Amino acid sequence: MKNLPLVDSHLDLAENVTLFGCDLTLSVAERRAREKRSTGQATVSLPELERGGIAVVIATVTPGFLAADVGADFEPRSALYHTAEQAEAQALSQIDLYESWEKQGRVRLLKSVIDLEHHLQLWQADRKPGLVMLMEGADPIVHVGDLPKWWQRGLRMIGLTYGDTKYGAGVRGGSLNFRHGGLTPDGFELLKSMADLGFIWDISHLAEEGIWQGLDMNFPRVCASHANVRALTPTDRHLSDDVIRAIGQCGGVIGLVLYNSFIEPRWKQDKSIVVTLNDLARHANHMASVGGWNHVGIGSDLDGGFGREECPIEIDTVADLNKVGSVVPTEFRDAILSTNWLDFLRGSLPNTP
Ligand SMILES: [Zn+2]
Repeated sequence: MKNLPLVDSHLDLAENVTLFGCDLTLSVAERRAREKRSTGQATVSLPELERGGIAVVIATVTPGFLAADVGADFEPRSALYHTAEQAEAQALSQIDLYESWEKQGRVRLLKSVIDLEHHLQLWQADRKPGLVMLMEGADPIVHVGDLPKWWQRGLRMIGLTYGDTKYGAGVRGGSLNFRHGGLTPDGFELLKSMADLGFIWDISHLAEEGIWQGLDMNFPRVCASHANVRALTPTDRHLSDDVIRAIGQCGGVIGLVLYNSFIEPRWKQDKSIVVTLNDLARHANHMASVGGWNHVGIGSDLDGGFGREECPIEIDTVADLNKVGSVVPTEFRDAILSTNWLDFLRGSLPNTP
């Protein structure tokens, strides 16, 4: 287990620095001492990723938050965007941050299979995490014609929506009233261009109609960086069995989210319910029974708007991710913790940068 390179397919690392002012170069203990929060307690930092043996992170690049999505009491107000140009500037500043971390020797940016394989060798000795950059919500792409520029900057994965974007109907937190509407004409054009350029498509946060529209185009590299099972958590933020099956059939992987209300929907009303990794295992088992064990991974989303007190009881920090391995069948443990995502990335990233 110690030398198994774990993969977390969804962490909002940059956003927590550029929008929320956290210092991810500290240990989580130091972050907690400095931030002095009673809710939303920190669970992620770069040293903590090293300590937890997390070798590869799919790290988000975000536009900030659209005012219409998050409402009037959202803080800080400086995290909001109103125009595509503001969203673009925010996303570029997050890429700048990842690049500066790389220059400081804190992370390695992974843009190709060669980068990935080289990184995995170096990781055995230095434990520095490798990051694949994922744009979560495509509003920063002002024009579809800008896509090559984003590819040049190292972006390799894109999810079209968070809430609604100009590219499609989004499901931010999800609801029982399923969101109708799929891709916009711009969304079709963006997906087509993403397919041509080599981008990976992340279907998380997209209304189901849009997912089927993209799958019907036979998009070649599809995954869900962070989503759970709709049959167990019945909102449209999670994946229907038909979508889980389709992702499996096209060789994709789905990252399980470690957020209590995504794991056990009753927890949202009753916080006294203790959510455990065994509850998460129900999602893993269901996903596997529908799509196959080779298509299940972990996309924890830790620190993605929820803190220590809102994730399963066994998880204190991201360094506890390996504990997910103890609740899945032993023969698939390495696949879920590591190799499913690594194999997907090997088959989906370009061979050379
Ligand atoms: Zn998300």
